[in-house]
Amino acid sequence: MLDLLKLRIRHGYQAIPDIRSAQLMGTHRGFPVIDESEYEGDWQKVIDVCPTNAITKNPVSIDLGKCIFCGECEEVSGKAIRFTNEHRVGCSERNHLVVSSGDGFGDFLNEAIAARREIHRLFGRSLKLRQVSAGGCNGCEMELNACSNVNFDMGRFGIDFVASPRHADGVVITGPIARNMAPALMDAYKSISDPKIVIAVGACAISGGVFAQSDELNRGLLDETAVHLYIPGCPPHPLTLINALLDFIGRK
Ligand code: SF4
Ligand code: SF4
Repeated sequence: MLDLLKLRIRHGYQAIPDIRSAQLMGTHRGFPVIDESEYEGDWQKVIDVCPTNAITKNPVSIDLGKCIFCGECEEVSGKAIRFTNEHRVGCSERNHLVVSSGDGFGDFLNEAIAARREIHRLFGRSLKLRQVSAGGCNGCEMELNACSNVNFDMGRFGIDFVASPRHADGVVITGPIARNMAPALMDAYKSISDPKIVIAVGACAISGGVFAQSDELNRGLLDETAVHLYIPGCPPHPLTLINALLDFIGRK
């Protein structure tokens, strides 16, 4: 027992102490900054290189709900599109995920997730989530798993994943919602008692991502219910996920 205690003391406290101010390496692709005046070539070439049709013109914009952060547009546009390492790209409104030429990260962040008193009152101290992998590649699921590891330790904020939707306050959807997974997702959603929240994690869940044109999808649930929180990425980083959830439940 004494040896175990010594070992525990030697390991120290391994969780990131201040998850709100933690920064990612410069190589991480987060919020994009676009300056269309910096590129004198044909923007259609940049648009065509995007595998998920995330880029549009007039003004040049990137839909973070479709973007898989592959960096191809950054190369082709000669850095007129530049991805910063700002990882806090979670958002509560779908249209706010469209970043246009000239938009800055500060303005985006200010309006990204509206603090709602009712959400804070209900879930501010405890949020239990049921995750449904609806046909994704397992990348988003791995990052969601990492949120609960000793490093990120999301459980310290009272946010946990639970095994049964009956015990959950909301559902976290990953994957593009393959036709075969649609009934299981609907069952899980219906099994959660009201009031319940819906969180879409990753480009696949938000827009279909690289599978958006597939006939094998059934995204009917998202037509029937509101999505309360969008967390872009392919996959999103655990810091993106945890910060978005903390903002959503109104934790400082
Ligand atoms: S980084 Fe995003 S917007 Fe740019 S090409 Fe890749 S998917 Fe498209
Ligand atoms: S968004 Fe990317 S990482 Fe997540 S399930 Fe889809 S392809 Fe995989």
